[in-house]
Amino acid sequence: MYNLKVVIIGAGIGGLTTGIAMRQAGYQVEIYDRAQELRPAGAGISLWSNGVKVLNKLGLGEQLAAIGGEMNAMEYRSHTDEPLSYVDLLPLFEQVGQRPYPVARTDLQTLLLEAFGPEHVHLGRFCIGVEQDEHTATALFEDGERVVADLVIGADGVRSAVRAYVVGRPVDRRYAGYVNWNGLVKADPALCKDDLWVLYVGDHKRASMMPVGGDRFYFFFGAPMVEGTQVDPSYRQDELAKIFQGWPTAVQNLIEAIDSEQTNRLEIGDIDPLDQLVAGRVALLGDSAHATTPTLGQGGCQAIEDAEVLTRYLVTTNLSVADALKRYEAARKDRTAELVLKARKRTRTIYGHEPEVTQQWYKDLKQEPPEVVISALAKVILAGPMG
Ligand SMILES: Cc1cc2nc3c(=O)[nH]c(=O)nc-3n(C[C@H](O)[C@H](O)[C@H](O)COP(=O)(O)OP(=O)(O)OC[C@H]3O[C@@H](n4cnc5c(N)ncnc54)[C@H](O)[C@@H]3O)c2cc1C
Repeated sequence: MYNLKVVIIGAGIGGLTTGIAMRQAGYQVEIYDRAQELRPAGAGISLWSNGVKVLNKLGLGEQLAAIGGEMNAMEYRSHTDEPLSYVDLLPLFEQVGQRPYPVARTDLQTLLLEAFGPEHVHLGRFCIGVEQDEHTATALFEDGERVVADLVIGADGVRSAVRAYVVGRPVDRRYAGYVNWNGLVKADPALCKDDLWVLYVGDHKRASMMPVGGDRFYFFFGAPMVEGTQVDPSYRQDELAKIFQGWPTAVQNLIEAIDSEQTNRLEIGDIDPLDQLVAGRVALLGDSAHATTPTLGQGGCQAIEDAEVLTRYLVTTNLSVADALKRYEAARKDRTAELVLKARKRTRTIYGHEPEVTQQWYKDLKQEPPEVVISALAKVILAGPMG
């Protein structure tokens, strides 16, 4: 289809990538975000090869490589510093044809925003709903404005305002039972090798570091916790020191190195897989469609895949907008649902929902041959839209 006018709600990874793909297709695209200033939630993100391949196709590969960390291996160690597993990732890159890139989120956001065109992003615009008729879809804003387009895309995250319109009921986020702390620190051999993704696991918790561009490590911690706890940002280092007391020296060094005020603290959740991702001329995309726990590192990558697939159907078919959206839904529903449920299961294992399962996982990590890990990662990557 030609000359479409597209309204996207949300300027996160999903909305911006979709905006770039659709502008490259010649469509007129405007993005509206409720934030007054775009600030990504979280410090880093690992873009696995399936996401990177889509960004390569959009002409962003070189810029992405420049902000990406060189992660060549992953290692699991126990909370008593016992080596559990070591996986060289080079065979994975050979199988799938592209290395992944851990990146700082602000670097990624700047890259995507510049590629899309900041002048087409309208901030401080809170979408409160959507309407449509046979010929148009309209986004409704809190300030009373209505913006009419050929289609509206709800890329408005886990607490989406567009989702209830598409699925016909409110869908609540499910708390996954754990808190994640994350941030960036200066790379330092006292913390981790500079091309390694290390994960310390034990006692139903984990602590991890991986390299991102700019000589920094992205770190995260995770620990089970009841819902609703709050800790003043200035005490985050103290909180982590308490929760990870007695963990290996590298973890203690990391806690000492972090800046409390710059450390994010998030309660993690997901949503149940949806029956519908589209309604007529309105589509959900990214976390609004399939928010997941981050235990597979695929949430952002799936938003990027959505962008590619949705744009592809609009460009390559010409029956109607609603028909192209239905094809997008058919292509994305099972893939994303499967990953959400897989990540949920992994979350339960990592964070001790059934303690005996977690204990068995610690044992399995020691036995699992690296080829099995590589093959599981490759399977997820190669099932993406770029193969
Ligand atoms: C701790 C953590 C670690 C993660 N690690 C990884 C990883 O390693 N790899 C990976 O691929 N993924 C990872 N993810 C998942 C990834 O961050 C998300 O899947 C991704 O950011 C979703 O992008 P999005 O554009 O769909 O939504 P969001 O990034 O949430 O963007 C939604 C945008 O919509 C705006 N918005 C919301 N409501 C409205 C409204 N009513 N009107 C207007 N604007 C609105 C918001 O302001 C926001 O800018 C992780 C997630 C977390 C929490």
